[in-house]
Amino acid sequence: MPLYNTHHIKLYNTLSGEKEIFQPITEGYVGMYVCGPTVYSNVHLGNVRTFMSFDMIFRYLKHLGYKVRYVRNITDAGHLENDADVGEDKITKKARLEAIEPMEIVQRYTVDFHNVLTTFNFLPPSIEPTATGHIIEQIELIQSIIDNGFGYTVNGSVYFDVHKYNESNEYGILSKRKLEDLIHNTRALDGQSDKKNPQDFALWKKAEPTHIMRWPSPWSDGFPGWHLECTAMSTKYLGDYFDIHGGGMDLKFPHHECEIAQNQASKGQALVKYWMHANMLELNGARMSKSTGNYINPAELLSGDNDIMSKAYNPSVIRFFMMQASYRSVLDLTDDGLAAAEKGFHRLMDAISLMANLKTNSSSSFNVSEWKQKCYDAMNDDFNTPILIATLFEAVKFINQIKDGSASVTPEDLAILKETIDAFVFDVLGLVNISKESTGSDKLTGAVEILINLRKEARLNKDFALSDKIRNELAEAGIQLNDSREGTTFTTN
Ligand code: AMP
Ligand code: ZN
Repeated sequence: MPLYNTHHIKLYNTLSGEKEIFQPITEGYVGMYVCGPTVYSNVHLGNVRTFMSFDMIFRYLKHLGYKVRYVRNITDAGHLENDADVGEDKITKKARLEAIEPMEIVQRYTVDFHNVLTTFNFLPPSIEPTATGHIIEQIELIQSIIDNGFGYTVNGSVYFDVHKYNESNEYGILSKRKLEDLIHNTRALDGQSDKKNPQDFALWKKAEPTHIMRWPSPWSDGFPGWHLECTAMSTKYLGDYFDIHGGGMDLKFPHHECEIAQNQASKGQALVKYWMHANMLELNGARMSKSTGNYINPAELLSGDNDIMSKAYNPSVIRFFMMQASYRSVLDLTDDGLAAAEKGFHRLMDAISLMANLKTNSSSSFNVSEWKQKCYDAMNDDFNTPILIATLFEAVKFINQIKDGSASVTPEDLAILKETIDAFVFDVLGLVNISKESTGSDKLTGAVEILINLRKEARLNKDFALSDKIRNELAEAGIQLNDSREGTTFTTN
């Protein structure tokens, strides 16, 4: 019997503004779509946090036995500067600045994105479609929106008629905005735009002669609007009405609002049952963002090569730090926070290592079944990872007490403890045991890390003789150092 029969998740649905019991449209199956990155630059840690929240959700749904089809797209066309309907395509702009092909930009940053996610131990999505691979689907979608009277063409571009749509539907249903307020708050058209109303949004844009990324369509040689790709790709792979749609908070309006309107206007039905929004990662108390320059890239944090943190952090420590906050809370990235997470993470890993050699007894002084249920209760309450971690630390305390003889455990309870910790720590939270990864010896890991740091210092001082000596002598002792952009790791023979 799958676990989902006995474990019922309550999740916060942005659409209703309430926690609801999660009931998939088809029993046992979950369709989940998450808006992926626009691949015009390296992802920053804020982007990573949003995708990590949904990776954790994907992992827990799978753990409960659901068959999950997780679709996360790559935006490689149509996303204009300032998330607006005018301006240059973000990817084309970068390509122009670097004097290379837009598709070279796409390739470079898609590879970077995948490398980062692999470093943080993400599970790959089931399907990762691209906007440029689904131009035909997008053209078909626009055609049906026009046929249903919700789209209009001006000078080769097509716009969504928000006012017409709002007569029979509710534009703003997700973000709780009212069209009247939007009208009130937007400045009048300056006569430059083809739109009937400023609230309308582009479905298809006619390409200027200089615009490189263009495709033929019934209306013009041009390119699709940014909001369109997600409606086209999500419904292609998950059906016209699917279970979960996720993304960062900042995408709620207008992006997700427009996705809903496009589906309603073309198919006459709602797009999604549960809308989920992950909250923002901050740096220095302000939202991490490429455009304001207030961001840190994963490589800088992992190598320690930055002016913000005192040292390098391991990807699992960063993951643990992120999981200590609810996905719905704002999280501030600080050196103190990461240092505290590092300590907590190692306490957890040490306890896990201890579990292998614990003595068992004829009775347990801790109710392991009740504790296990508490782990599930935490996750079933809108994926509450901070409560889960606090509960895991009850077990850490218990394990340490067994070790020092002040608590006892039966073999059966120890087996449940081990199995549950493994499931939540490694499968659900997606952490990796660093010491297990290398040699199993914490002391050796610590010693080699000291040498790695000494070598880093030597290299910074341009003392390459010393840095080579450290590397070569470690190699002779059977310890290989592996340098990468993310920092130095080691393996042993
Ligand atoms: P983009 O490539 O800009 O479309 O962003 C990709 C994803 O990262 C979107 O889901 C954004 O909501 C999310 N995102 C951007 N900035 C942050 C941040 N500071 N914290 C968390 N998520 C973010
Ligand atoms: Zn999207």
